[in-house]
Amino acid sequence: MSPPAQDDWVARSLRSVWHPCTQMQHHETVPLIPVSHGRGPWLVDTQGREYLDGISSWWVNLFGHANPRINAALKDQLDKLEHAMLAGFTHRPVVELSERLGALTGGVLGHCFYASDGASAVEIALKMSFHFWRNSGQAGKQEFVCLAGSYHGETLGALGVTDVALFREAYGPLVRRAHVVDSPDARLAREDETAVDVARRAAAGLETLLQQRAGQVAAVVVEPLVQCAGGMAMHDAQYLRELRAICDRQQVHLIADEIAVGCGRTGSFFACEQAGVWPDFICLSKGISGGYLPLSLVMTRGSIYQAFYDSDVTRGFLHSHSYTGNPLACRAALATLDLFAQDDVLFNNRRKARVLSQALQPLADDARVRHLRRQGMIWAFDAVLEDAQQAATFSRRFYAAALRRGLLLRPIGCTVYLMPPYVLDDEEMHLLAERTLLTFDEVMRTPLVAAWSEPQGSML
Ligand SMILES: *Cc1c(COP(=O)(O)O)cnc(C)c1O
Repeated sequence: MSPPAQDDWVARSLRSVWHPCTQMQHHETVPLIPVSHGRGPWLVDTQGREYLDGISSWWVNLFGHANPRINAALKDQLDKLEHAMLAGFTHRPVVELSERLGALTGGVLGHCFYASDGASAVEIALKMSFHFWRNSGQAGKQEFVCLAGSYHGETLGALGVTDVALFREAYGPLVRRAHVVDSPDARLAREDETAVDVARRAAAGLETLLQQRAGQVAAVVVEPLVQCAGGMAMHDAQYLRELRAICDRQQVHLIADEIAVGCGRTGSFFACEQAGVWPDFICLSKGISGGYLPLSLVMTRGSIYQAFYDSDVTRGFLHSHSYTGNPLACRAALATLDLFAQDDVLFNNRRKARVLSQALQPLADDARVRHLRRQGMIWAFDAVLEDAQQAATFSRRFYAAALRRGLLLRPIGCTVYLMPPYVLDDEEMHLLAERTLLTFDEVMRTPLVAAWSEPQGSML
């Protein structure tokens, strides 16, 4: 076999790069796209083909690729300080970011702890909660509760509170599993039930569990308003109000994993704001750096912070990452917060959302579609597929068909979702809707060919 041409990035990548969340053999049928550069909501490959990034590059890119204002902030930061360890040292970007995020919670969650990825933020919140209870003389509180269909990351600790079978089952023996309670997913409404009824029913189930196990449970972890990776399951904000009240009654922490739903994605900066409650911990990552650099953080209350404040080192929080509070990543986050403030993003997104919702209306009357739904800047619908093979291969076939139309979308199982960056103009919103509808129609009409027919799990 002759070596690949110097510019054959796909072949070279398939030889040397192990791609995430991927059965590498699928790349025999699913294309791998060599990206040359990005511009706004567009990714451009090495052949000059353009792809509309309908999922913000795995939900991280809020303000487009190569955003001039974030770029300028990073270039400025690069000449000042690229990194310094955060133990024993501090710097302006990390201080400003902590203060500004704390202020966005009205000072309720005024202490920020930093890491680099979402799963680590979740594990930090779990460890902090456990350690808080131990410092408070309740070392028996060692268990956690998560929701059916929840996703909180894929490291071993985070997998313990993740209920996506595909990710968890293969590593089951390594994982310490949390209690799993009913999801408030509005699609689970029985006849004559509203979304609020489903929320109340799910909350009642949680309270029953905690009445028995509150002495052993440290925290409940939830993705507020939308369980994203589990298939864009949306619930009524009433659930979060009930959850807050139950956690208070049962003396259990509430961890809000806003890694995907935070940063304006659901319509408010923090999703919890729509329920009018604050959790004990908020995890942020993904969009917080505008999709530029790996950054995650956990925000918590003064009362929790105080339980660690002591002369004894073992009562302090024992956790660190090499790149904790990286100045470049924090500066990208500050530039992202500036964009929110200067461009009135949350207000303008409401108008943009109306444009896209309107353009997606044909799906509402399509018999092949169920549960067309939206929360803020997340749209989703479920494809009705009777045939098991069709269903098992739907996400990959849709992904490939969308790419052929210059669109980046990756359905989760049979759920097609859109999570575009906040910078699409009206024309791009219409293009996004049009390409989505055409792709859906094509995939639903096209019979399976042999290359696709082996049943395999979904992709994210
Ligand atoms: C993506 C995600 C995570 C994990 O973040 P990583 O950076 O991929 O580790 C955790 N929770 C939620 C809700 C997420 O969407």
